[in-house]
Amino acid sequence: MKGTVYKSTGSWYTVKAQDGEFYECRIKGKFRIQGIKSTNPIAVGDVVSFKIEQLGDDTVGTIHSIEDRKNYIIRKSVNLSKQTHIIAANLDQVFLLVTLNNPTTYTIFIDRFLATAEAYDIPAILLFNKVDAYTIEELAEIKYLAELYRNVGYTCVGISAKSGKNVDKVKEMMVGKTSMFAGHSGAGKSTLVNALEPKLELKTTEISEQHLQGQHTTTFAEMFDLDFGARIIDTPGIKGFGIVDMEKEEIGDYFPEFFELKGECKFNNCLHLDEPKCAVKEALENEEVAWSRYRSYVQMVTGEEENYRVDIHDT
Ligand code: GDP
Ligand code: ZN
Repeated sequence: MKGTVYKSTGSWYTVKAQDGEFYECRIKGKFRIQGIKSTNPIAVGDVVSFKIEQLGDDTVGTIHSIEDRKNYIIRKSVNLSKQTHIIAANLDQVFLLVTLNNPTTYTIFIDRFLATAEAYDIPAILLFNKVDAYTIEELAEIKYLAELYRNVGYTCVGISAKSGKNVDKVKEMMVGKTSMFAGHSGAGKSTLVNALEPKLELKTTEISEQHLQGQHTTTFAEMFDLDFGARIIDTPGIKGFGIVDMEKEEIGDYFPEFFELKGECKFNNCLHLDEPKCAVKEALENEEVAWSRYRSYVQMVTGEEENYRVDIHDT
């Protein structure tokens, strides 16, 4: 039988078969996947093949193979072993909830998130939440930001999880797909999920790194079917994607507007910093590339991070 993993505890996997039934499955023996070393061989979202058998009164399954993943997100454990844990696989899209204040979402956070999504090969969508609560000036900032990110190629929607504004648009984008929600604690993830499907209670609360360190806890993601024909992956303990190791040289490839210009730089290994005849810096001078995006990029390359809010005032 074939199915999708909805939940895992580390030793048991809940698999939804094509017939719609859920089966508790185990893995027999050593199960290794080529190409990645992780603490868990199978994650939520994986498509697996399994055999069922009768164990007393229970029907249980044994997973014997896994389909190639189209993408997956990982977390490196914070303890000394530094092992990789696969949080979820086969995501169709990820929504980032952005709020201007309470809490403030800084552009470096947005840009790092988007670059990580690019690295993971997961389409990202920006949801500017709490539009019911902003001043006119703040709404102008949202408009400015939405325009900026639309120009880069990202879908941006202003929503209010509280009043329900544009929640139907979010639903439309979710139908038939597997989605994940990310954003700072307090950005409105639980409220939005509640507006999408009132009976669903998610454990979106963040778990501090310290807690993770002390408790040696592994938190597992879980997938849910929503009534309107969508699936969401709930990932407790992560506000973004965690930290992904990126080589300096590859970061520019995850800024789509930089990547497009890469071939026009004089040096093909151009880092777009101080090199002569750099097409990205020329585009920056011509205001075709946003300063805030370039600044985030430089911060990611140099590892020197500072938080900035919106950049409407310094352009
Ligand atoms: P989470 O930590 O991302 O899950 O955020 P919550 O859903 O718990 O929301 C944090 C706070 O923001 C709560 O007090 C919500 O009522 C509030 N909130 C969420 N969405 C909105 C919104 O669209 N407008 C307003 N005004 N408040 C919101
Ligand atoms: Zn360059």
